[in-house]
Amino acid sequence: MEAKVDYYEVLGVDRDADARTIKRAFLKKARTLHPDVNKAPDAEEKFKEVNEAYSVLSDEQKRANYDRYGDPDGPGGFGGAGVDVSDIFGGFGMDDIFSSFFGGGASGGRAARTAGRDMGITLRISLAEAASGCTKTVAYDRLAPCDDCNGSGCAEGGHVTTCSRCHGTGRVVTVQRTILGQMQTQSECPVCHGTGHSIDHPCETCGGQGRTPNHETVKVEIPAGVHSGQSLKVEGYGEAGIRGD
Ligand SMILES: [Zn+2]
Ligand SMILES: [Zn+2]
Repeated sequence: MEAKVDYYEVLGVDRDADARTIKRAFLKKARTLHPDVNKAPDAEEKFKEVNEAYSVLSDEQKRANYDRYGDPDGPGGFGGAGVDVSDIFGGFGMDDIFSSFFGGGASGGRAARTAGRDMGITLRISLAEAASGCTKTVAYDRLAPCDDCNGSGCAEGGHVTTCSRCHGTGRVVTVQRTILGQMQTQSECPVCHGTGHSIDHPCETCGGQGRTPNHETVKVEIPAGVHSGQSLKVEGYGEAGIRGD
Protein backbone atom coordinates (compact mmCIF):
# COMPACT_ATOMS: atom_id res chain seq x y z
CA MET A 1 0.00 0.00 0.00
CA GLU A 2 1.31 3.40 -0.93
CA ALA A 3 1.19 6.17 1.62
CA LYS A 4 -0.28 9.45 0.39
CA VAL A 5 2.34 12.15 0.03
CA ASP A 6 2.17 15.01 2.47
CA TYR A 7 2.51 18.22 0.46
CA TYR A 8 3.85 20.11 3.45
CA GLU A 9 6.47 17.46 3.99
CA VAL A 10 7.44 17.50 0.32
CA LEU A 11 8.20 21.22 0.51
CA GLY A 12 9.59 20.97 4.03
CA VAL A 13 7.35 23.68 5.51
CA ASP A 14 5.07 23.89 8.56
CA ARG A 15 1.35 23.41 8.16
CA ASP A 16 0.75 27.06 9.04
CA ALA A 17 3.45 28.43 6.70
CA ASP A 18 2.44 31.59 4.84
CA ALA A 19 2.36 31.95 1.07
CA ARG A 20 5.77 33.56 0.89
CA THR A 21 7.46 30.84 2.93
CA ILE A 22 5.86 28.20 0.76
CA LYS A 23 7.00 29.89 -2.41
CA ARG A 24 10.54 30.29 -1.14
CA ALA A 25 10.74 26.65 -0.07
CA PHE A 26 9.36 25.57 -3.43
CA LEU A 27 11.81 27.65 -5.47
CA LYS A 28 14.77 26.38 -3.50
CA LYS A 29 13.76 22.77 -3.99
CA ALA A 30 12.74 23.23 -7.60
CA ARG A 31 16.03 24.85 -8.45
CA THR A 32 18.05 21.88 -7.23
CA LEU A 33 15.70 19.27 -8.69
CA HIS A 34 14.92 20.69 -12.12
CA PRO A 35 15.73 18.05 -14.76
CA ASP A 36 17.88 20.55 -16.68
CA VAL A 37 20.13 20.87 -13.65
CA ASN A 38 19.89 17.61 -11.75
CA LYS A 39 20.77 14.45 -13.62
CA ALA A 40 19.97 12.02 -10.81
CA PRO A 41 17.56 9.32 -12.02
CA ASP A 42 14.86 10.20 -9.48
CA ALA A 43 15.22 13.98 -9.85
CA GLU A 44 12.42 14.30 -12.39
CA GLU A 45 10.05 12.29 -10.20
CA LYS A 46 10.90 14.42 -7.18
CA PHE A 47 10.60 17.61 -9.22
CA LYS A 48 7.08 16.61 -10.23
CA GLU A 49 6.20 15.92 -6.61
CA VAL A 50 7.49 19.32 -5.52
CA ASN A 51 5.63 20.96 -8.39
CA GLU A 52 2.39 19.23 -7.49
CA ALA A 53 2.75 20.12 -3.82
CA TYR A 54 3.29 23.76 -4.77
CA SER A 55 0.40 23.90 -7.21
CA VAL A 56 -1.90 22.86 -4.36
CA LEU A 57 -0.39 24.83 -1.48
CA SER A 58 -0.07 28.04 -3.52
CA ASP A 59 -3.76 28.01 -4.39
CA GLU A 60 -5.87 29.22 -1.46
CA GLN A 61 -8.91 27.19 -2.39
CA LYS A 62 -7.01 23.98 -3.08
CA ARG A 63 -4.96 24.36 0.06
CA ALA A 64 -8.06 24.86 2.20
CA ASN A 65 -9.62 21.75 0.69
CA TYR A 66 -6.44 19.79 1.19
CA ASP A 67 -6.18 20.87 4.82
CA ARG A 68 -9.77 20.01 5.52
CA TYR A 69 -10.41 16.93 3.41
CA GLY A 70 -6.95 15.75 2.45
CA ASP A 71 -7.96 16.35 -1.16
CA PRO A 72 -7.34 19.56 -3.12
CA ASP A 73 -10.57 19.07 -5.06
CA GLY A 74 -12.68 19.01 -1.91
CA PRO A 75 -15.00 16.32 -0.57
CA GLY A 76 -16.94 15.60 -3.73
CA GLY A 77 -14.19 16.40 -6.16
CA PHE A 78 -16.14 19.41 -7.46
CA GLY A 79 -14.80 21.98 -5.05
CA GLY A 80 -13.99 25.57 -5.81
CA ALA A 81 -17.43 26.89 -6.74
CA GLY A 82 -17.62 30.64 -6.90
CA VAL A 83 -13.99 31.19 -7.83
CA ASP A 84 -13.63 33.66 -10.66
CA VAL A 85 -11.83 31.50 -13.15
CA SER A 86 -11.29 32.89 -16.60
CA ASP A 87 -11.63 30.95 -19.81
CA ILE A 88 -8.08 30.42 -20.83
CA PHE A 89 -7.41 28.40 -23.91
CA GLY A 90 -3.85 29.41 -24.45
CA GLY A 91 -1.06 31.07 -22.62
CA PHE A 92 1.98 29.72 -20.89
CA GLY A 93 2.23 26.61 -18.78
CA MET A 94 4.46 26.24 -15.76
CA ASP A 95 6.85 24.17 -17.90
CA ASP A 96 7.60 27.11 -20.21
CA ILE A 97 8.02 29.37 -17.21
CA PHE A 98 10.50 26.96 -15.70
CA SER A 99 12.50 26.56 -18.87
CA SER A 100 13.08 30.27 -19.04
CA PHE A 101 13.66 30.52 -15.29
CA PHE A 102 16.37 27.89 -15.37
CA GLY A 103 17.52 28.83 -18.84
CA GLY A 104 18.35 25.64 -20.71
CA GLY A 105 21.86 26.52 -21.92
CA ALA A 106 21.54 28.93 -24.84
CA SER A 107 24.03 28.22 -27.58
CA GLY A 108 25.19 29.90 -30.74
CA GLY A 109 27.35 32.55 -29.13
CA ARG A 110 24.49 35.01 -28.81
CA ALA A 111 24.26 36.98 -25.59
CA ALA A 112 21.43 35.70 -23.43
CA ARG A 113 18.05 37.31 -23.75
CA THR A 114 17.63 39.25 -20.57
CA ALA A 115 14.58 41.39 -21.28
CA GLY A 116 11.13 40.05 -20.52
CA ARG A 117 8.86 38.78 -23.24
CA ASP A 118 5.35 39.77 -24.11
CA MET A 119 2.89 37.07 -23.22
CA GLY A 120 -0.24 36.10 -25.10
CA ILE A 121 -3.42 34.68 -23.63
CA THR A 122 -6.54 33.69 -25.52
CA LEU A 123 -9.83 34.69 -23.95
CA ARG A 124 -13.19 33.40 -25.03
CA ILE A 125 -16.16 35.68 -24.42
CA SER A 126 -19.79 35.51 -25.44
CA LEU A 127 -21.37 37.58 -28.21
CA ALA A 128 -23.31 39.60 -25.67
CA GLU A 129 -20.13 40.37 -23.75
CA ALA A 130 -18.41 41.41 -26.96
CA ALA A 131 -21.24 43.77 -27.83
CA SER A 132 -21.53 45.48 -24.45
CA GLY A 133 -17.96 45.19 -23.22
CA CYS A 134 -16.99 43.44 -20.01
CA THR A 135 -14.29 42.91 -17.42
CA LYS A 136 -12.57 39.55 -17.26
CA THR A 137 -10.25 38.21 -14.63
CA VAL A 138 -7.41 36.33 -16.22
CA ALA A 139 -5.20 33.94 -14.29
CA TYR A 140 -1.85 32.90 -15.67
CA ASP A 141 1.70 32.02 -14.74
CA ARG A 142 4.57 34.34 -15.48
CA LEU A 143 8.06 35.22 -14.39
CA ALA A 144 7.42 38.18 -12.12
CA PRO A 145 9.91 40.47 -10.37
CA CYS A 146 11.20 38.71 -7.25
CA ASP A 147 9.48 39.94 -4.05
CA ASP A 148 12.49 39.34 -1.86
CA CYS A 149 15.01 41.45 -3.75
CA ASN A 150 12.60 43.72 -5.65
CA GLY A 151 13.96 42.36 -8.89
CA SER A 152 17.60 43.30 -8.28
CA GLY A 153 18.79 39.70 -7.82
CA CYS A 154 20.94 40.77 -4.84
CA ALA A 155 20.57 39.55 -1.31
CA GLU A 156 20.79 42.22 1.37
CA GLY A 157 24.21 43.86 1.17
CA GLY A 158 24.93 42.28 -2.20
CA HIS A 159 26.21 44.17 -5.24
CA VAL A 160 25.98 43.75 -8.97
CA THR A 161 29.38 43.94 -10.62
CA THR A 162 30.68 43.48 -14.12
CA CYS A 163 31.50 39.83 -14.71
CA SER A 164 35.25 39.40 -14.34
CA ARG A 165 35.38 36.40 -16.64
CA CYS A 166 33.84 37.98 -19.75
CA HIS A 167 34.28 41.66 -18.77
CA GLY A 168 30.60 42.33 -19.31
CA THR A 169 30.29 41.00 -22.84
CA GLY A 170 28.42 37.85 -21.81
CA ARG A 171 30.59 35.78 -24.13
CA VAL A 172 33.85 33.97 -23.81
CA VAL A 173 36.22 33.00 -26.59
CA THR A 174 37.98 29.70 -26.32
CA VAL A 175 40.96 28.90 -28.49
CA GLN A 176 41.54 25.30 -29.35
CA ARG A 177 44.57 23.90 -31.07
CA THR A 178 43.66 21.49 -33.79
CA ILE A 179 45.70 19.85 -36.53
CA LEU A 180 44.40 22.58 -38.86
CA GLY A 181 45.67 25.33 -36.60
CA GLN A 182 43.92 27.38 -33.97
CA MET A 183 40.16 27.39 -33.79
CA GLN A 184 38.25 30.10 -31.99
CA THR A 185 34.82 29.44 -30.63
CA GLN A 186 32.56 31.88 -28.88
CA SER A 187 30.16 30.69 -26.25
CA GLU A 188 27.99 31.98 -23.49
CA CYS A 189 29.97 32.99 -20.42
CA PRO A 190 29.62 30.14 -17.91
CA VAL A 191 30.05 32.46 -14.95
CA CYS A 192 27.32 35.02 -15.65
CA HIS A 193 25.27 32.93 -18.12
CA GLY A 194 25.48 35.62 -20.74
CA THR A 195 24.21 38.52 -18.69
CA GLY A 196 27.61 40.22 -18.32
CA HIS A 197 27.05 40.82 -14.61
CA SER A 198 27.80 38.91 -11.49
CA ILE A 199 26.45 39.25 -7.99
CA ASP A 200 28.50 38.74 -4.85
CA HIS A 201 25.50 37.77 -2.70
CA PRO A 202 22.71 36.51 -4.92
CA CYS A 203 19.16 36.52 -3.57
CA GLU A 204 18.35 33.02 -2.35
CA THR A 205 14.79 33.04 -3.56
CA CYS A 206 15.44 33.79 -7.21
CA GLY A 207 19.04 32.59 -7.42
CA GLY A 208 20.14 36.06 -8.58
CA GLN A 209 17.78 36.33 -11.56
CA GLY A 210 15.59 38.95 -9.96
CA ARG A 211 12.46 37.13 -11.07
CA THR A 212 10.49 34.12 -9.97
CA PRO A 213 7.67 32.04 -11.42
CA ASN A 214 4.42 33.43 -10.13
CA HIS A 215 0.73 32.81 -10.47
CA GLU A 216 -0.95 36.07 -11.37
CA THR A 217 -4.42 37.35 -11.87
CA VAL A 218 -5.15 40.48 -13.83
CA LYS A 219 -8.43 42.23 -14.64
CA VAL A 220 -8.82 42.99 -18.31
CA GLU A 221 -11.30 45.61 -19.46
CA ILE A 222 -12.77 44.50 -22.74
CA PRO A 223 -14.28 47.43 -24.63
CA ALA A 224 -17.67 47.18 -26.30
CA GLY A 225 -17.59 46.09 -29.92
CA VAL A 226 -14.48 43.92 -29.97
CA HIS A 227 -14.35 41.44 -32.79
CA SER A 228 -13.04 37.92 -32.94
CA GLY A 229 -9.26 37.70 -33.03
CA GLN A 230 -8.70 41.24 -31.81
CA SER A 231 -5.69 41.80 -29.55
CA LEU A 232 -5.74 43.93 -26.42
CA LYS A 233 -2.53 45.01 -24.81
CA VAL A 234 -2.12 45.25 -21.06
CA GLU A 235 1.13 46.90 -20.01
CA GLY A 236 3.29 45.71 -17.16
CA TYR A 237 1.96 42.20 -16.77
CA GLY A 238 4.23 40.30 -19.14
CA GLU A 239 7.34 38.40 -18.28
CA ALA A 240 9.89 40.14 -16.07
CA GLY A 241 13.41 40.36 -17.50
CA ILE A 242 16.53 39.36 -15.67
CA ARG A 243 17.29 41.80 -12.84
CA GLY A 244 14.77 44.41 -13.84
CA ASP A 245 15.37 44.50 -17.62
ZN1 LIG B 1 30.46 36.62 -17.77
ZN1 LIG C 1 15.31 37.66 -5.56
